[in-house]
Amino acid sequence: SARLAGGQQYAVYDAAVHAERLANTQLVADLHRALEDGEFTVHYQPIVALATGAVVEAEALLRWTRPDGTSISPGRFIPLAEQSGAIVAIGSWVLSQVCADLRDLHRDHGLSVTVNVSAQQLRDPRFAQHVLDLLERNDLPGSALIVEITETVLVTSVVDAGTVTEQLQILRDHHVRIAIDDFGTGYSSLAYLRQLPVDILKMDGSFTALQIEEGTERDLAFIRAILELSRNLGLQTIAEAVETAAQADRLRELGCDLAQGYHFARPAPLDTLHKIMRERRDPAAAAPLTHVELP
Ligand code: C2E
Ligand code: MG
Ligand code: MG
Ligand code: MG
Repeated sequence: SARLAGGQQYAVYDAAVHAERLANTQLVADLHRALEDGEFTVHYQPIVALATGAVVEAEALLRWTRPDGTSISPGRFIPLAEQSGAIVAIGSWVLSQVCADLRDLHRDHGLSVTVNVSAQQLRDPRFAQHVLDLLERNDLPGSALIVEITETVLVTSVVDAGTVTEQLQILRDHHVRIAIDDFGTGYSSLAYLRQLPVDILKMDGSFTALQIEEGTERDLAFIRAILELSRNLGLQTIAEAVETAAQADRLRELGCDLAQGYHFARPAPLDTLHKIMRERRDPAAAAPLTHVELP
């Protein structure tokens, strides 16, 4: 009967949910050990000035590779690390790694690095001082670092809005820039823009993707509106997930400042970023960034 079939569907659903919960529990249990065992690395994705093609920044993106060579995507383990609180230790490691890597990147190439930071990290009233200590230890000016926060991060920290704002303000007083990540996908983007000290707006990749389709004047209107809002607030705009030359051209025409995406380069280990920067500095060897060999 229909009822029986329905019941069976529920049983299958329950089993799948149960299996996923079990797998998640295992991953959560693994996070701290993985950190201690050195299974995390930081990759870097170049960020390009659309007007000149120069690489001016890079985004630090966490990678988890297990001893058997399999990797787990941050889209999967970051939410679990946030739910379990492991993100505090992991995020602290990311920041110290980034600052250590940034020492040479900034001295040799004048690069800034932008790093993703979760709400739990910003709720710690010692967070800003921790970051400032790391910068000082590596002879870095605050301007070499950008802190990226997501709108969803901010939704979850309403109770700690005071601390979060205060930590961001301290960083900003020391010239560390603040970026809002994935802009346009959250609940109340505009409210956050009004409340928080922000320097950079990262337009979510879903807006970049909209341009692929033909005859999407309505879609373009959203991109134009975001860019105009950003300009009016005196913010810099970065377009995420630029995958084609046509998208890069269009964004440049629309006045977007910076862009990152597979069209320019994929996230890659630190060595690759150094290689890209060296090759681009030598005019004889300089190849368009899109043609740089990827590992
Ligand atoms: P995000 O901060 O929005 O990072 C951009 C994501 O887009 C990255 O995914 C990047 O690899 C991907 N991407 C870059 N170019 C393209 C493109 O042309 N097309 C497409 N489709 N995607 C592109 P990834 O590395 O898998 O990271 C996913 C998310 O995990 C990040 O999104 C960020 O929210 C989070 N995450 C990564 N590293 C960290 C970290 O160290 N700390 C925290 N708290 N979160 C992190
Ligand atoms: Mg980001
Ligand atoms: Mg993003
Ligand atoms: Mg995104």
